[in-house]
Amino acid sequence: NHQFLLDNRPEGAATADNFRLVAVDTPALQDGQVLVRHHYLSLDPYMRGRMNDAKSYAACQPLGEVMQGGTVGEVMESRHPGYAAGDKVVGMGGWQEWSVVDAGVPGSLRKVDTSVVPLSYYLGAVGMPGVTAWYGLTQIIDPKPGQTLVVSAATGAVGSAFVALAKARGCRVVGIAGGPEKCAYATDELGFDACIDHRQNGDLKSMAQALKAACPDGIDGHFENVGGYILDAVLLRANAFARVALCGMIAGYDGQPLPLANPALMLINRMRVEGFIVSEHMQLWPQALAELSQLVAAGKLRPRESVAQGLAAAPEAFLGMLKGRNFGKQLVKLI
Ligand code: NDP
Repeated sequence: NHQFLLDNRPEGAATADNFRLVAVDTPALQDGQVLVRHHYLSLDPYMRGRMNDAKSYAACQPLGEVMQGGTVGEVMESRHPGYAAGDKVVGMGGWQEWSVVDAGVPGSLRKVDTSVVPLSYYLGAVGMPGVTAWYGLTQIIDPKPGQTLVVSAATGAVGSAFVALAKARGCRVVGIAGGPEKCAYATDELGFDACIDHRQNGDLKSMAQALKAACPDGIDGHFENVGGYILDAVLLRANAFARVALCGMIAGYDGQPLPLANPALMLINRMRVEGFIVSEHMQLWPQALAELSQLVAAGKLRPRESVAQGLAAAPEAFLGMLKGRNFGKQLVKLI
């Protein structure tokens, strides 16, 4: 079994040297445990926060331990009555090829049905990122049909689920993404009504102009994944009583400061701006996952995946995702 450990903490930007690849034997199974062979590892922005020894929305990852992370795979051997060899499962197996899981611990493992939803989707559209989009949309933005919503990191794992859920509620949805290829995909494939290229509109003034053109009736709800001048531009264009779901601020994850130019706009617009952590709302996951899998079954949610091959590719794929080199949900295929 190959594993990536967190070897040392980043100073400034994370680098591949922060991780260390090791080979270990897989321990023998005890009663209540199952052996899972991972098919895919999920790479997610929250992992960057865990690498730091500082306050973040994700708990700090201990040094010298396997990098934590979501995985999907197959049960190869089971000493737990609820699981049998051949079961497809989603869990938190970490950056490694195999894991031994105490299957009785609540939340450790979940069996999934791959007849309609592909296995890898349980890490993206029908997994944590999909539920994240669902939570911010339904519990914070709570839009009415016809309202205009904006989402940044629009073509990523969360953004692509967000647009499917928002279109199903009759909203007009405007994305913000990096580069012409991602923007074309957003409107042609994902169903966005418009998409703004933040690389072409790299400062507050031009982003505000682009939002004005794309949102002629103003912005009623915003799902923030990036932070910085993108949020400033949205605040300028927000309608009275607009809601903002603060989901992520990826532009600052490597330590860049993200000052807000004009916080008074939240008051002037009487806005509701609310941060959230999806893992603190487990009671809503079944409802969210049911809607997301229905959208997949209906062909209304078929997002792209960026698939790196083999565990050794994980660090570079992870660092690339933080810079927007992924195009869709970032995964590592392990077999
Ligand atoms: P994505 O698949 O969207 O990948 C990250 C994307 O962020 C990149 O592809 C890039 O897209 C964009 N990005 C990175 N740096 C910048 C930058 N400086 N400026 C603008 N865009 C940038 O990741 P996820 O869908 O998994 O996550 C999206 C967001 O949701 C993250 O902020 C994450 O932390 C947050 N999140 C929060 C959760 C919560 O519970 N609060 C749970 C899960 C995710 P592009 O090329 O288009 O710029």
